[in-house]
Amino acid sequence: MSDTYIIIGAGLGGLFLGKLLNRKKMDVTILEQGSQPGGALQTFVREGIRFDTGFHSVGGMQPGGPLRKIMEPFGLNYLPWEKMGEDECIDGGPFMRCSSNTPFEMEHVVKPYENSTWRLKGGGKTLVDALVKTQDIRLNKKVVSIENKEIICADGSTFRADYIISAIHPRLTFELVKDHVRSSYLKRLAKLEDGPGAVTLNCKLKEGMLKWINHEIFLQDKVMIHFGERDADGYARSLDLLGFAPITADELIEAATKHIPDFRYALDKYWMSTPETWQRYTGTPGGTAFGIKKYTSADFLPPQTPIPWLYLTGQNTGLHGVLGTCISALNTFKALVPGE
Ligand SMILES: Cc1cc2nc3c(=O)[nH]c(=O)nc-3n(C[C@H](O)[C@H](O)[C@H](O)COP(=O)(O)OP(=O)(O)OC[C@H]3O[C@@H](n4cnc5c(N)ncnc54)[C@H](O)[C@@H]3O)c2cc1C
Repeated sequence: MSDTYIIIGAGLGGLFLGKLLNRKKMDVTILEQGSQPGGALQTFVREGIRFDTGFHSVGGMQPGGPLRKIMEPFGLNYLPWEKMGEDECIDGGPFMRCSSNTPFEMEHVVKPYENSTWRLKGGGKTLVDALVKTQDIRLNKKVVSIENKEIICADGSTFRADYIISAIHPRLTFELVKDHVRSSYLKRLAKLEDGPGAVTLNCKLKEGMLKWINHEIFLQDKVMIHFGERDADGYARSLDLLGFAPITADELIEAATKHIPDFRYALDKYWMSTPETWQRYTGTPGGTAFGIKKYTSADFLPPQTPIPWLYLTGQNTGLHGVLGTCISALNTFKALVPGE
């Protein structure tokens, strides 16, 4: 009988690792607390407009680029990726304030955007729909306890596997673990610092007021402006603003208006998410957008833990973003299946 695997969390990290294990015909079950898979890749629809909650664009999808190479074995490179125009960075790059610019992080998170930026038609949902295909994903399964290879969920259901891989925040993971864990490891986890919480405004725009722009705008490292849906005449129907706590809705709107004066008049209404929303929705402590900060190599947690059957994956163990999280899943896969 082959080994069995349970992954906790159906965000990108869990879904992509599941895909890697599935390709090797492994027996994998993914447990997700929410009623939808995707984590920070989820989309929602309000008043007929689709909004992305987290992910908006990626780097590294150019022919031969690192993300394209990762996507190719799964045919994910054939999804409707669209190349965008050159990013507009006003007074600095997008990631400088919220990540730590270790050479590894610069190489894999920031630099891929320097070549080109890509959006995905249909947003994060398009990627999630492709990733969930043929996977065994159990929704509404919030894991509340892990002990001796057994998982207990909030609804009382239990699961057992030879290997358990947590794709949620490592500190949360070890709050759930009832087995003995050496204190030096727990102390190391406690010292890791989380990046700032995300504040987003998903904005519905009045018809025919603001021309749709096909590039990302990063304002002084603090606010990112993502254009969303467009109408047949080339006007934007929606626009998303992302900032980092502490920042208010008014401050986000003011920052965007300074760069796009017509934005304030074009704004019809918005839906806001705060770090508390993110904490509720993905469980991420403090609603951090990009997980644990990586100052030095000591902040990169290996997939292995002191418990031989428990592994980690997701943006907190390696790098954040679609590319970074996929690389983390690949690292966990290599640790689980030596020789791959
Ligand atoms: C606002 C925002 C904007 C972003 N924009 C971009 C972008 O434009 N480009 C880019 O490349 N990246 C972007 N990112 C980063 C990218 O989305 C993340 O790095 C990546 O999606 C993280 O995936 P993950 O699987 O590690 O974590 P998550 O997406 O957080 O997934 C964790 C999953 O675990 C589940 N879970 C938590 N606790 C439990 C439990 N106890 N039991 C069961 N399930 C549980 C959660 O519900 C969630 O589904 C953005 C992130 C945010 C927040």
